[in-house]
Amino acid sequence: VSFADLGLAEPLLRAVSDTGYTTPTPIQVQAIPLVMQGGDLLAAAQTGTGKTAGFTLPILHRLLASPAKRAAGRPRCLILTPTRELTAQVEASVKEYGRHTALRSLVIFGGVNINPQISALKKPVDILVATPGRLLDHAGQKTIDLSGVEILVLDEADRMLDMGFIHDIRRILALLPKQRQNLLFSATFSEEIRGLAHKVLNNPKEVSV
Ligand code: AMP
Repeated sequence: VSFADLGLAEPLLRAVSDTGYTTPTPIQVQAIPLVMQGGDLLAAAQTGTGKTAGFTLPILHRLLASPAKRAAGRPRCLILTPTRELTAQVEASVKEYGRHTALRSLVIFGGVNINPQISALKKPVDILVATPGRLLDHAGQKTIDLSGVEILVLDEADRMLDMGFIHDIRRILALLPKQRQNLLFSATFSEEIRGLAHKVLNNPKEVSV
């Protein structure tokens, strides 16, 4: 199976080829078609498996396939991660794979001055990558509007729970439209993760690598 066989849009295939990837990894072979079809996904995958491209590429594909009017601070896709470092890494991947598209991404995390983020949010954004606490700060200040989110990703969900983000995640879920696509990635599957998955996902397909 090649990236072209997976049916990804041409600007994404060019970006993959620029990056130097020749063959999709197992998680990518499994996840990319499922996510492209719009279904919910529960994925057991560790860092290093290529999971980031596994969700980023089909999300970019879907956003390209259904263009929408862009608005400042109102993302169509929200990717939640546990840490500043992971948030920055995921957003770098979004930028890399989206380099031949006009889609725009932004990264939001805590522990830094909020004002530059508020300025950045005055521009249109398609994909927002964020840590939960700072995202809620912005939502409370109305510098982020979550009412247009079509796709939600919980990346490294087990680490988010370990770090005590469950209440923040619940508050964020309450701000999202009911009708949306949901993807949950976790390295481990505790009872707590199963509970979160049950709350967030609708009829998910499960993949495991
Ligand atoms: P991740 O599991 O998303 O953190 O990705 C782990 C590493 O694998 C990253 O450095 C990616 O750049 C790399 N990677 C992702 N997909 C592929 C691929 N299909 N072929 C080669 N390397 C890849």
